[in-house]
Amino acid sequence: MRVYPRGTLGLPLVPISLFEASSKRMWVIGRVGYVYSIDLGAEEWMTLANLHYQCETRDGRQWFIRLEQTIVSYDPASGEWLAYDAADIQLSRVFSLTPSSHGLLWATGRHQGFAALSVFDGKRWEMRSHPEFARWIEPRGVSETADGTMVFGAGGRVLSDVPGAGGILRYGVDGRTGRVDLTDHHAPPGYPYYATAFAETPDGALWVGSTLIYRVNPETSAPEPVRGLGGENTVSMRVDHEGALWVAKEHFGVCRRLDDDWEVFTEADGVASLLLSDLLVLPDGSLLASSAAGISRFDGKSWTARAYPEQFGMVKRLSSMKLASAGEIWLNYCDDELQSPLLLQGGGQRYGAVRHRPEATPPETRIIDCLNKVAQPGNTHVTWEGSDPWGATPREQLQYSWCLNGGEWSAYAADGGKTFLNLPHGPHVLEVRARDRDFNVDPSPDRAEFTVVAPLWLQPWFAAMVLLMVGSMVLLVWVWLYYHDKRLKDRARHLMEVDQVKTSFFTNISHELNTPLTLINGPLERVLGIETDGKKRKMLSMAARNAERVSTLVSQLLDFRRLETGQLQLEPVSGDIAVRIQEVMDTLRPLAQTRDVDLRFEGTGSCIGGYDADKLRKITKNLVDNAIKYTPSGGRVFVSLSVQDSSFVLSVEDSGVGIEPEHLERVFDRFYRVPEKSIIDGSGIGLNLTKDLVGLWGGTISVESPVSADTEHPGSRFTVALPFINRE
Ligand code: ADP
Repeated sequence: MRVYPRGTLGLPLVPISLFEASSKRMWVIGRVGYVYSIDLGAEEWMTLANLHYQCETRDGRQWFIRLEQTIVSYDPASGEWLAYDAADIQLSRVFSLTPSSHGLLWATGRHQGFAALSVFDGKRWEMRSHPEFARWIEPRGVSETADGTMVFGAGGRVLSDVPGAGGILRYGVDGRTGRVDLTDHHAPPGYPYYATAFAETPDGALWVGSTLIYRVNPETSAPEPVRGLGGENTVSMRVDHEGALWVAKEHFGVCRRLDDDWEVFTEADGVASLLLSDLLVLPDGSLLASSAAGISRFDGKSWTARAYPEQFGMVKRLSSMKLASAGEIWLNYCDDELQSPLLLQGGGQRYGAVRHRPEATPPETRIIDCLNKVAQPGNTHVTWEGSDPWGATPREQLQYSWCLNGGEWSAYAADGGKTFLNLPHGPHVLEVRARDRDFNVDPSPDRAEFTVVAPLWLQPWFAAMVLLMVGSMVLLVWVWLYYHDKRLKDRARHLMEVDQVKTSFFTNISHELNTPLTLINGPLERVLGIETDGKKRKMLSMAARNAERVSTLVSQLLDFRRLETGQLQLEPVSGDIAVRIQEVMDTLRPLAQTRDVDLRFEGTGSCIGGYDADKLRKITKNLVDNAIKYTPSGGRVFVSLSVQDSSFVLSVEDSGVGIEPEHLERVFDRFYRVPEKSIIDGSGIGLNLTKDLVGLWGGTISVESPVSADTEHPGSRFTVALPFINRE
């Protein structure tokens, strides 16, 4: 009778009903609605004492080695067991059984203290002893290469007294007769003495594991050592479904060869321990690595340190992992140190096998905690859990992988949650799936949708507010600009109107003054012509001079009027411009003398060309008159004339009071007078008229001041460039 204690199985205190189902399950129904299922069969886990599973032959028989060093085979179809004892096999120790493509079964081990093998053709065993080779053939040092050659590796204490011992043996099989023959013995120094594991990669290269790893060159059969891998013995070598070579090196790690590069996995990556014992590639492509601390599983991305409970750790050379058809995993233990699953059964066996048939029901996943709305800066913690039907994999041994927004799935980890930091604003979808101990993955991952709210400045109401503020500011500025502009325009119009009123007033007055002035000037000239008395003449000429000034002013004002109404036109004549200028200067010479100003002309001699005599006279007179007027006595006025291309340039330079920079531009404005200089008589229209006349001519006028370093008399220079006028 077998007693299942309540504590170990977690059964309800008072079971009230028991049902035995056809699937070898016992249903236990508790009082408060708990339902339990007990697996009474040997479906998922089964232990076999005293036996080590080795292989399966073509006829479907399963082969085992017994603790007593005999071999048994089992036919699952008929349930028949067959045993072969030492007399049949002719080996004193059997370490491994390997089927080959020739339909043969190869038992390897030792006989009478030396390496030996025995080949079974289905009827009888034929033993070959190799005392020249080694003390035994390594349990994992057996392999069939692609060309059907069997290779065997040396093990045991070095046969130091046998020259050429160690290395590997190659056996060939005659396809026709089935004859088995030793073809090669590759011994040191070319080959290592020990060959503990073999593997063949898709490129046809045979790999030999010893203290170092060797790649046997398929062309030359020469072994080339692989540098860079440390540790001690090679305990196992396998090639995975992708053709990658895996090597387990004791005290070093599990190594994967990828395109001539080695990737080494150690405890830091999730390998349970570096006391490694075997490797096994599973049907789903994942890899098991057994070690003293447990069996680890690699899913192509990450390691699960203990794929089975901790007690499944295995040590010792004779322990091994095997894969049988239908995906059964056999774990062979030869172990008197560890607390193995065999010992757990209470039998005290130290030699036996555990068969595991991975169950196929996937676990369920559920997201427990996930906020719908996540505030800025987008940090959230999501938790989840899973459950495997009937707790086949305990909850704490389930693993989870997650995927955010359809991205890549994360590596599986035992964590029941994850903190996401700084997620971007907007909607997010998180999916989580659980995986059980047999790597069954939940086909319908749980899904949670949540939204990370947008930061303040991206909220619609905030954007609208900013827009409104900016809009009203723009409006305000626009309104201000509009009214300011309007005010300026109004003022300008007003000034223009005032200006026009002023001009038309002066024009009207001028018209009125013109006739009486002619009537004053004419008689005055005549009286001056006949008067001989010096005193009277002086008074008369003063009157004449001032009358002349008034007529100049009057004629200037009338010119403005004519310019504005377009009546003033160019009247070209041809002649010597230098002579015309000197004539104007001559009329001003008396004024210069009165003011004690030295008036000089310098020119190129004659300057013949087309010009407007009246305008030239007015321009020259205005500039020279001003120069004399604004030059204190003792100063000088210097007039020059030069020709540049198709223009002549008139320059009037004085050593007078000069014009400050801030007034330079404005002296050409109508009625503008430099305030400090207004003690000198003037109207402020001379330069403006000059500029308009120059403009009518198509020339340019400019002013510079100061023109000398003398701060008392900085002086000014007016330059006028006027094109020669060609008469059509
Ligand atoms: P005004 O009748 O006052 O001379 P203008 O239009 O001829 O009127 O000259 C405008 C102003 O320019 C003058 O009031 C004077 O201040 C300044 N100005 C003109 N020519 C000279 C000069 N050669 N030297 C110094 N200042 C001058």
